[in-house]
Amino acid sequence: MSAAPAIKGWCPGALRPMLSGDGLVVRLRVPQGRLTPAQARGVAGLGARYGNGMLDLSNRGNLQLRGVDPARHEGLIDALRALALIDVDERTERRRNIMVSPFWQAGDDTDFLCQALSAAAQAHALPDVSAKFGYAVDAGPQPVLQADPADIRFERSAGGQLLLCIEGAVRGKPVTRATAVTDAIALAEWVRAQGVTRAARATATGAPLPAGFDCPRQAGQGTPAPGLYPAGALVACAFGQMEAETLAALAELGPLRLTPWRRVLIEGAPRLPDLAGLITAADDPLLRVVACIGAPGCAQGRGETRGLARRLAAVVSKGQRLHVSGCAKGCAAPRATDLTLTATAPERYDLIHDGRADAIPDMRGLTPATIASHLRKSADAP
Ligand code: SF4
Repeated sequence: MSAAPAIKGWCPGALRPMLSGDGLVVRLRVPQGRLTPAQARGVAGLGARYGNGMLDLSNRGNLQLRGVDPARHEGLIDALRALALIDVDERTERRRNIMVSPFWQAGDDTDFLCQALSAAAQAHALPDVSAKFGYAVDAGPQPVLQADPADIRFERSAGGQLLLCIEGAVRGKPVTRATAVTDAIALAEWVRAQGVTRAARATATGAPLPAGFDCPRQAGQGTPAPGLYPAGALVACAFGQMEAETLAALAELGPLRLTPWRRVLIEGAPRLPDLAGLITAADDPLLRVVACIGAPGCAQGRGETRGLARRLAAVVSKGQRLHVSGCAKGCAAPRATDLTLTATAPERYDLIHDGRADAIPDMRGLTPATIASHLRKSADAP
C-alpha cells in the first residue's frame, strides 16, 4: 500500500517558500489581489528570470512563481520587494491571509475592510489561530466567495446589512466599518479559545457563538464565469497556470485583480482579450476540469494530472466537474467534486464519485483509457 501524502499544515509564502519537485514555490499574497501594470510586468519578468517561467493562480487568489532555485531566492525577494509585493516579515505575511472579491469599487465596504484587515495584520493585531486560518472580504450586493475557503467572512445580508460571518454558521453579526475589524479579531480569538485551528471545526462543536450572530446570511452566487462584468473582463487559464509572457501581455491591458477562482479580472476592460493561453468562453470544456501540478512537478505526485485532465475535458458532461489529483491530498479541490481521479501510481487512478481525493474510491486502479470510456458511458447514460 502506498504511503499517505505528507500534510505540511502550512501554505507557502514568498518569505517562507515550499520546496517542490521543480524547485521552490514562491507564493505572493498580492495586497487586495490587485497588481498594477508595472507590478504585473515585473512579476512576469521575474518569473522567467528566477523561475521556470510558469505562474500559478491559487484557490486563495494568490500568485505563485514555480521552479525557483533556492540559491537565488534572496535575490528574487529583493526584486519583489522593490515592486512592493513583500511583507515586512514572515509573521505578517502568514497572518495577512485575506481573500477579496474582485468586484470591489474604490471606496466601497469591500475596499475599506480589506485595507483595514491588512493594516491589522501589519500591526500584528490578527490572532495567530493557525497557518491556514484566513479571511474573505466579500461585501458586494450578493456574496461571490462562499464556495472558496475562508474562516471569517464579511458579507452583506439580503437586506443590505454588512455582516461578520463565520464558516459553518448560517447567521452573521451586523457590523459597521467602525466595529468590523475589532469584531473579526474577537471572533478569531473565539475560534482559538475552542482549542481548534479552523472556524468550521469550532462551529461544528456546537459551542455558542459570541453575542449578536442573529442576522440570516444570504446565499451566494456560483463561481462567476469568464465574461464581461461592470468591474472589467474576467478571463481564465487552464488549471490556473499561465506562462510569464501571458501575464506580461495582460499587464498591457490594465491593472489585474486576482481571484480565488484561478481567474483574473482585467480592471475596467470593456472587451475580452484575444490572447493565446486564455479562456474567455463561459462554456469552454477546460473549465469543467481542475488538476494540481501532479508528478513530476510535485514531489508527492503519484501520477500525471494535467495532460489527462485536458484529454478528458471533452467527455465531462456539462454541469459536472472533474478533479484529477496527483495524490490523495487533493490540493486543487479541497471540497468534494462530482468526479475525482486520484493518482495512485504512474498510469493508475482511483475514481471517486461526489467526494474528495482522499475519499474511499468507487473504482480502483483505472488506466487513462478505461477512464475515458467509463466517462463516455456515463455521459451517454439516460
Ligand atoms: S495533490 Fe497534487 S499538488 Fe497536492 S501534494 Fe498531491 S500531487 Fe502534490
